[in-house]
Amino acid sequence: MERLVVAGNPFYSCRNCRTPVALRDDIVSKNFLAKSRTAYLFSNAMNVVLGQNEDRQLMSGIFTIANIYCSRCGEDLGWKYIRAYDARHKYKEGKFVLEKAQILKEY
Ligand SMILES: [Zn+2]
Repeated sequence: MERLVVAGNPFYSCRNCRTPVALRDDIVSKNFLAKSRTAYLFSNAMNVVLGQNEDRQLMSGIFTIANIYCSRCGEDLGWKYIRAYDARHKYKEGKFVLEKAQILKEY
């Protein structure tokens, strides 16, 4: 199996095809609830493709988000915050939510 190492740092990969999708160093929050499932908030993601922008009512308010998919296998991994309508959540803009159940920790 193809094995990719990212600068010796732990990272997270797509559960389905093991493509690296985010670095542990880029985790902003590990206690993030997405649709009542645990998710991590990352400042960055890689090897993902974005779906169309859409407005979605989340637990913390209305956001414009885009679903993110693994660029290799197309697995649904979570979403990216494009725009927060509430000023208190502006810090989330441009960040990525990856559902814990969809990713694997790698070393
Ligand atoms: Zn994948």
